[in-house]
Amino acid sequence: MNRQIERWIHEWHEQNSEPICAYVYDLAGIRNHVHKMLETMPEQTSLFYAIKANPDKRIIEALLPLVKGFEVASIGELLLVREVSKSVPILFGGPGKKDMELEAAMKEGVAYLHVESLLELRKLVMLAKEWNRHTQVLLRINLRTNTLPQTKITMGGRPSPFGLDEPFIEEALAILRDEENEHVHFSGFHFHSLSNNLRAELHVDMVHLYLQKVEQWKRSYGLDVQVINAGGGFGVSYEDTPEFDWQLFTSMLAESEALQALKDTQLFFEPGRFIVADYGYYVAEVVDIKQSQDQFFAVLRGGTHHNRLPASWGHNHPFCVVPTVRWPYPFPRPEVDKAKVTIVGELCTPKDRLHTDAELESLRVGDVLVFEKSGAYCWTISHHDFLGHPHPEFYYIT
Ligand SMILES: *Cc1c(COP(=O)(O)O)cnc(C)c1O
Repeated sequence: MNRQIERWIHEWHEQNSEPICAYVYDLAGIRNHVHKMLETMPEQTSLFYAIKANPDKRIIEALLPLVKGFEVASIGELLLVREVSKSVPILFGGPGKKDMELEAAMKEGVAYLHVESLLELRKLVMLAKEWNRHTQVLLRINLRTNTLPQTKITMGGRPSPFGLDEPFIEEALAILRDEENEHVHFSGFHFHSLSNNLRAELHVDMVHLYLQKVEQWKRSYGLDVQVINAGGGFGVSYEDTPEFDWQLFTSMLAESEALQALKDTQLFFEPGRFIVADYGYYVAEVVDIKQSQDQFFAVLRGGTHHNRLPASWGHNHPFCVVPTVRWPYPFPRPEVDKAKVTIVGELCTPKDRLHTDAELESLRVGDVLVFEKSGAYCWTISHHDFLGHPHPEFYYIT
């Protein structure tokens, strides 16, 4: 438990009468973590941050001096990065890009555009010519394989709306090689097949598969490949399973022949979750404790409208209890001891549940729960205005 947050909760209680509800982002923690990640990365590799995991501007600013650039998947995300830096390299991916997005991508000078379909590529070639703008593309490929690590979220290996299946590579290259096209330039390939893989060895195998495939395509089609983007998907453990071993991943990669064989080709990674998940805390106060039949429920000021990840994944989100002293009422303070308690939010739906049957030593109304690992895909994927409760406050540890 982060001591700074504990202290901050007590100070907040001394100065306010309302129940606490906030996100705390540890920017210093993120910076240290990324420093360590970079230390072990092989020379040929670069780190980008996929901002959809947490597009908080302060986080983007904190990462700006450390990462090579940012991955975005909409014009909104693109402009957010451009607010922070006019020149930092941007990778622009995502299915269903509109003409206006393709135009804006060229105007904002993205470094590489990830092509997700043949239609998108045809439109891009047409628009680039109209606009007289040059742009570099990576073809996003969805491999047909059952050798990828099995995780909760998979975007590739099986039928999916993301990227191009391998048999379409030839047609994509034909569009790019058409003599009418002088503006859109092939630079390489992009893969992002899964999220939250916890096994470093399997991640290395997956990257090796990507490199092998690219090697084949280079030979078959006579390609000059400058960049291979191997995506994100490095996992964070929300339960007792071991964390993703970044040191092991990078050292296995560094030692592999496939990496040596890259020569001048750059290898990109674009994680989201792994960079920020551990450095966000969702802080919510217990406003009621109730018994229903044989079960206890603690109701929070907050819930899945602020942190939808546990409902989305159906998991029990890890948290700890910060006991507090504030109790301004003339009647007894409800409490439970040595009990299993289900933690729910303030919404009128049974889906608003963050943890089922948490075994607690003691919990009182007014105590504060700190949900750890809430820095990625928590606030940003939530339905903030469902039921009209106030949003949480945002605080930053610098
Ligand atoms: C979401 C996404 C990422 C980041 O994924 P994580 O699992 O958070 O690392 C990277 N690349 C693409 C194309 C994505 O859609």
